[in-house]
Amino acid sequence: MNEIKGINITENASLKNLNTYKIASSAKYLIRVETIEGLINILKYLKEHNIKYFILGAGSNIVIDEYFDGAIIKLDGLNKVAVKEQTITAWAGAMMGILSCESVNHNLTGLEWAINIPGTIGGSIVGNAGAYNKEMFDDLISIKVLDENLEIKEIKKEEIKHSYRHTDLKGKPWIVLEAIFKLEKGNKEQSLELIKERKERRLASQPLDMPSAGSVFRNPENDHAGRLIEACGLKGKTIGGAMVSPKHANFIVNAGNATSNDVKNLIKLVHTQVKEKFNVDLVLEQEIIDWK
Ligand SMILES: Cc1cc2nc3c(=O)[nH]c(=O)nc-3n(C[C@H](O)[C@H](O)[C@H](O)COP(=O)(O)OP(=O)(O)OC[C@H]3O[C@@H](n4cnc5c(N)ncnc54)[C@H](O)[C@@H]3O)c2cc1C
Repeated sequence: MNEIKGINITENASLKNLNTYKIASSAKYLIRVETIEGLINILKYLKEHNIKYFILGAGSNIVIDEYFDGAIIKLDGLNKVAVKEQTITAWAGAMMGILSCESVNHNLTGLEWAINIPGTIGGSIVGNAGAYNKEMFDDLISIKVLDENLEIKEIKKEEIKHSYRHTDLKGKPWIVLEAIFKLEKGNKEQSLELIKERKERRLASQPLDMPSAGSVFRNPENDHAGRLIEACGLKGKTIGGAMVSPKHANFIVNAGNATSNDVKNLIKLVHTQVKEKFNVDLVLEQEIIDWK
């Protein structure tokens, strides 16, 4: 594996700083990819040697397990963002904040909302991230993926089923490599003003000073998951090191050495209590990863 070019391998790697919950976890291999050729060659190797792999973005929408007996692949090196007139091409490993800044710097509007999403383009496409009534697929034209035969395919937005915080890419064995957006011409000053205003709102309402993975549950139609959880008296509820945020009930935070099980058990407890009190079946926005 070590002779493959365009990748960087660490054995027995800690994943604590690679997930925004800061859950202590580790993997047999951590592979940072620098080139597409490197990605294709390492995938060939892993398949030939029957080694499991998992594509990790910024780890900001997942509850990871304690140990992965396989290879975590990070597309960190594939992080270019290129603007040509009103079209932006963003590679999967680029952060959403960079995409947003680049669009605003080029006097384009439509992706201001993305500045506060601490995820990568790849993870945000797969989960159709969004905020303030905007979402990833609004301005998307197409994506490029590496398919199960390790071939690069371009897929138009219309060919991908997507809805609120969901796409059918989730069930597919594809790796998102790139996303292409077309934006409207805008005004940099106005965009910066909008970004400032929303940042202040987030700082006031979300526990951004503590490790979390954003909203735990999707909002049910015409309601807010946070309102239902708060009405169950669960703000501040803890299991081990995991706590329902006293600031925003739809956030679970790591209040100190939370384990994967602490977070999962607290999610279960919240789900059960909301179901019992309101007969509402909250749907998880975060993804619970089971590597066993
Ligand atoms: C403080 C905070 C605020 C947040 N606010 C919001 C918000 O307003 N709106 C919102 O929608 N989300 C929000 N989130 C959640 C999160 O940032 C987004 O869901 C983000 O899009 C996840 O991207 P990621 O790179 O971290 O994906 P990860 O969590 O790393 O991965 C998510 C899934 O995508 C898969 N994946 C990742 N990259 C690829 C790829 N290249 N190809 C194929 N599959 C891939 C992974 O295998 C995994 O299944 C917030 C999170 C935090 C911590």
